[in-house]
Amino acid sequence: MAISWFSVGMLTVICVLLIVVVIIQTKKLIVYIKNIKKKSNDVLAYKIIVLVCRVIALIVPLALIIDAGYHEIRWQYTQYVATTITRYVTGRDDITARCVRRLDFNLMNLPISTVGGVAKKTHSEINYNLCRILAQWLMSDREEVTNEVGWALHTIIHEAVHLTGEENEPKTECKSIMMHEDVAFETLGIDREVSRRFVEYYKALDYNDPTNWALHLALGYTVDWRECETAENTEQEQEEETSTE
Ligand SMILES: [Zn+2]
Repeated sequence: MAISWFSVGMLTVICVLLIVVVIIQTKKLIVYIKNIKKKSNDVLAYKIIVLVCRVIALIVPLALIIDAGYHEIRWQYTQYVATTITRYVTGRDDITARCVRRLDFNLMNLPISTVGGVAKKTHSEINYNLCRILAQWLMSDREEVTNEVGWALHTIIHEAVHLTGEENEPKTECKSIMMHEDVAFETLGIDREVSRRFVEYYKALDYNDPTNWALHLALGYTVDWRECETAENTEQEQEEETSTE
């Protein structure tokens, strides 16, 4: 489905309700202006007050919808980008990435370090804070790619690797970090040198330090990067051998 990445949240509902209010108020205002001359019994001052009130009743929801609409569109767009990345990694177009909404995030009381989980292998769920960071970057001039943006991208890739059927965490981390540079360049146009710096920074993180951002890091497992790279290269070589046989 073309817009399967679209999700309905509280803000979506608010936007729809505001659109309805704006339509109703616009109609009321037009009708009032059309009939204003017929209301010959009303004094002019009264007519002006009613008109001003009707205009305010339209301007307020209109201003609200501009603000709410901007945030909603930005969220949906971020989800679209996260889905594009996920589809690129998995090679499947029936899969989506969902950005956990702020309300759900607060209700579930998830700590900042939680990364997206995988439900039913049809979509990944990306932490609210990571999507927020990605959303801000997507709306910026995209010049500065901070490590936080790298984290957000890494998490989306990590969950996408899980969606390919890989359940082993250290192996998932290994695969994710090895493809980080390519995915960043191909899907977001991020300079390869910038991604290489993030990858080096990420590999140097202490997996046993609970203050580190992602839940993965607090889970206590470790990744031997050198071993994982060798294993990954051997796997690739074997694949190439079998495909040429
Ligand atoms: Zn994982």
